[in-house]
Amino acid sequence: MKQRNILPLVGAASALCLPSIAQTQQPNIVYVIPDQLRNCSLHFWDDAPYSAYTRCAADPTITPALDAFAAQSVVLSEAHSTCPVSSPYRGMMLTGMFPERNGVTLNCMNQRPESTLSPDAVCISDVLSQAGYDCAYIGKLHADFPTRNNPQRPGTYVVDGDEVWDAYTPPERRHGFNYWYSYGTYDVHKHPHYWDTEGNRHDIDEWSPKHEVDRAIAYLDNEGGVRDASKPFFMMIAMNPPHAPYRSTEDCMEEDYALYRGKSVSELLVRPNADTTMSKARSAAYYFASVTGVDREFGRLLDALEARGLDGNTIVVFTSDHGETMCSHSLRDPKNSIYRESFNVPFLIRYPGVLQPRVDDLMLSTTDIMPTLLSLAGLGNSIPASVEGRDLAPALRTAGEGERPRSALYIRNLNGRRDSDGMVRGIFPEARGIKTGRYTMEIAIDRKRAVKLIRLFDDANDPYQLSPLDAEANRELTAGLCAELGAELKRSNDIWYRERILEELIPYGDAPQKTETPGNKQP
Ligand code: CA
Repeated sequence: MKQRNILPLVGAASALCLPSIAQTQQPNIVYVIPDQLRNCSLHFWDDAPYSAYTRCAADPTITPALDAFAAQSVVLSEAHSTCPVSSPYRGMMLTGMFPERNGVTLNCMNQRPESTLSPDAVCISDVLSQAGYDCAYIGKLHADFPTRNNPQRPGTYVVDGDEVWDAYTPPERRHGFNYWYSYGTYDVHKHPHYWDTEGNRHDIDEWSPKHEVDRAIAYLDNEGGVRDASKPFFMMIAMNPPHAPYRSTEDCMEEDYALYRGKSVSELLVRPNADTTMSKARSAAYYFASVTGVDREFGRLLDALEARGLDGNTIVVFTSDHGETMCSHSLRDPKNSIYRESFNVPFLIRYPGVLQPRVDDLMLSTTDIMPTLLSLAGLGNSIPASVEGRDLAPALRTAGEGERPRSALYIRNLNGRRDSDGMVRGIFPEARGIKTGRYTMEIAIDRKRAVKLIRLFDDANDPYQLSPLDAEANRELTAGLCAELGAELKRSNDIWYRERILEELIPYGDAPQKTETPGNKQP
């Protein structure tokens, strides 16, 4: 399917798409990333021209701000989270490097000391800071090994229990972000906490996305002189909802839950692959309420940009770190699988006067985000040599031009062995997969590195992935997909390529490159 242009905007909104004097200046960048927001939860996918790209029903959500934002943006139908769990996504997005090079191979927590963002990895914020940007991080980071650290009393800690997942990030690990209002990971949505630039902790009794957008607006207004107003800014807002828990109005706003309260499970879970008998099905109303709340807060941020005259020269991205299965395929795990509900993510990007609003099936993978954003901001020459992703800015700027990847790589790592202290050492690279325009294929191995399963779908004819194809009966197709998978594993210098895993099945071509340890690759 080729790109299709959306009709020109009319009325006041059209002004957003006209080139302006401000575009001679370096653009600001705002990157909004709620956690676990699946692409099909954006309601506009039910409407033309978007619906032709997914051939699936959208969730029955109410997302007016994102529907309007989509009409001003390039909307990608085929953006994928390469390793669809929190920390590996964040490592890849920040560095443009694959997990084995940036250090974040597994979700960061206290039993996985090796999985942490390498201090030496060059992040997008390092590059932008060097290029003269003021850089702000607001919300959930979850890319560092949790450290027991009370910044007011260095060397001690005061919150028992939180160090399993949560983390304070000391200044030397902030990678160019000069404004800080963040935490590791903490799932109490109406009682979040944050550590600020100076390391002071703030405990808040408010739904976290609302609080974070308030802080973002205060940053725009430079309350307290927190930013250098002479500089362009790069602001990341990493919301935790609609991430679990989604069990009650303790997790979302009541006004949003009221929109879904009266609907039955079958009215809410409209995808025919959803198992509505799962106990989790009751969560759908709260999950969708969280999506609506995120939509409202995102809309409030867009309004704030417009009211301050900042919308014309600001690149705005709305995406997520991975999706949410929400009972599809009877899965308990909301993420970490190649099924579309988990692997496919929203990716909407608005840059008035530069990007023509449209829906596009351009394949975007997580490592492509950093180089693409730098290039769009006019910093293509500053993309570090350590970046392993592709600059897809030309394809975004002009429909049908530039590099258009044929496929998206999928990675699933599990814990490696445990040492005598119970610490996880290394990874078990359980599954690798490939998504092309038409097909999805995953290959999983057992601990002896033999094939455990080959999962194969014809997404064009089976968009809900209900009817797996038999790999043996479709040898030619499987061989073609294995060739594409081998090429991607080689391009990413993946452990499967380096250690020739299933080389009788996957053609890897020439000899592997020298093995590198996480973080040692020089920029
Ligand atoms: Ca996540």
